[in-house]
Amino acid sequence: MFKLLRFLKPYAWFIVGVLVAVFCQVMADLNLPTLMSDIVDKGVMNGNTAYILKTGGIMLLVAAIGVVCSILASYLSSRASMGMGQLIRNKIFEKVENFSLFEFDKIGTATLITRSTNDVTQVQMMVMMFLRMMLSAPMMAIGGLIMAFSEDRKLTLVLAVAIPILSITIILIGKKGMPLFKSIQKKLDRLNLVLRESLSGIRVIRAFNRTEHERGRFNEANEDLTKTYITVNRLMALLMPLMMFIMNMTSLAVLWFGIIRIDTGGMQMGSLIAFTQYAMQIMFSFLMVSIMFIMVPRASAAADRINEVLEVEPEIIDPAEPEAPTQAKGEVEFRDVTFRYHGAEQAAIEHISFSIKPGEFTAIIGSTGSGKSTLVKLIPRFYDADSGSILVDGVDIKRMRQVDLRAKIGYVPQKAVLFSGSIADNLRFGQKDKTDAELQKACEIAQATEFIDSMEDGLAHEIAQGGTNVSGGQKQRLSIARALARRPEIYIFDDSFSALDFKTDAQLRAALKREVKNATVLMVAQRVGTVMDADRIIVLDEGHIVGMGRHKELLETCPIYREIAISQLSEENIA
Ligand code: ADP
Ligand code: MG
Repeated sequence: MFKLLRFLKPYAWFIVGVLVAVFCQVMADLNLPTLMSDIVDKGVMNGNTAYILKTGGIMLLVAAIGVVCSILASYLSSRASMGMGQLIRNKIFEKVENFSLFEFDKIGTATLITRSTNDVTQVQMMVMMFLRMMLSAPMMAIGGLIMAFSEDRKLTLVLAVAIPILSITIILIGKKGMPLFKSIQKKLDRLNLVLRESLSGIRVIRAFNRTEHERGRFNEANEDLTKTYITVNRLMALLMPLMMFIMNMTSLAVLWFGIIRIDTGGMQMGSLIAFTQYAMQIMFSFLMVSIMFIMVPRASAAADRINEVLEVEPEIIDPAEPEAPTQAKGEVEFRDVTFRYHGAEQAAIEHISFSIKPGEFTAIIGSTGSGKSTLVKLIPRFYDADSGSILVDGVDIKRMRQVDLRAKIGYVPQKAVLFSGSIADNLRFGQKDKTDAELQKACEIAQATEFIDSMEDGLAHEIAQGGTNVSGGQKQRLSIARALARRPEIYIFDDSFSALDFKTDAQLRAALKREVKNATVLMVAQRVGTVMDADRIIVLDEGHIVGMGRHKELLETCPIYREIAISQLSEENIA
């Protein structure tokens, strides 16, 4: 919790303002009962109207100052705490942007969302309350006690009984409530996870008639959360009447003993009225402090969760002294690279060594799960290899700045991802300066022109969130065009042609060969037809390279490749 307070730094002046305003407000509040008592004792009892009016005027003024200060304190404390929340959300976002894919896998998307929204709100609320009460509650309690004591010593004994009763009650209830408060956050995470899964998987869920099942899962998580909330609120609902009861009993006791003291002449009427008000102020401050103590655990649980995210040291960081890029353009070399996903028993790829010269067209083929995607994901440093090294243009990628490395690469993922916005926006992703002509060119190579032109508004056509309003093949072609528009040195296509029909696939590859002659192309594919004319084909099997060479050579030397080829092509096509 305290660690997060560093985000309040920019709001130091606001906090000073809050403290001053709160101080003035408490002072005003503490003076009102005394003025009241003066009016009663010196004005009403003596029938001195002028005195009543004068002191009444002062009372009004003091009350007005109190109100103004209170408004000011609220305003300043909200500004400070909301600003702090904004800052924390920004920090989380910044941090998460630097996460490697492994860190995403580890923490989980659903909880990241809860952490940057709900958890931050909790902390924000707590800070706001804290700012308003940190000074006011103790000051009010102590000041009230002093004032009450000076009005009448003997009556203060009533408070000596009432305050411990109040405190003990609150502590007992707090003890029951704290664990519940803490568990709410976890349950919220669970609800978010279920909701996210069912929303993003809605098509599959419908297709498999799993709607009922998903609804059940959601209801379960929802009910779990609701029950906890209800238990907590029941407790809190109990707290209020209990507090009111104790406070009212205290007033009653004060009045009871006060009247006796007035009867015996030890006290004046006005003093009694003032005393009653002080007693209320004191009890109320105790109430506030204790409520805060109950709230703190929840906010601190939230703060811990936020810190967990902020304290992740991203695995993949830029070197302190990045190496200057060399002259080479488009070289990729793997030197005995082995990589294992965290928690996986087997390495996904093992002892991989090969090198690609600029301008070469290299294909990677192999059965599903053989490690093709894993291999190409290592090149833009989505993950870091466990051993061995990967060199791009002769420089170890760990010794390069990530932006420099990624600027060299046009990566088309296996699963095409589009963002909401127009087609042009999507193609200009990370490359705002591209002209329409350049985009058109990229679309032509990617064989996307035809369907874009068939749309009324062409490049300005709006893509829905997640790219749901274009077909799988169209999505793939747009995602290819996006990489092409970038004109990088190295193209990586991770099975990006899988949703294309044979004809489009062939046209696209022909266009690629024509247009990106100078660039290096690394293409993962399932179809032998797609890779037949590559300069080199790398055959992967269970994470190992089992063959490397041209189509013809591999047919003779590599049984696994031959097997794949035979299963897909007729005899005459193979040759
Ligand atoms: P391919 O692209 O050849 O079909 P992948 O490279 O995607 O294969 O996967 C290779 C192996 O690594 C598979 O056994 C798969 O289960 C595993 N794998 C892939 N992604 C992850 C991940 N994020 N975490 C753990 N294991 C993974
Ligand atoms: Mg794959």
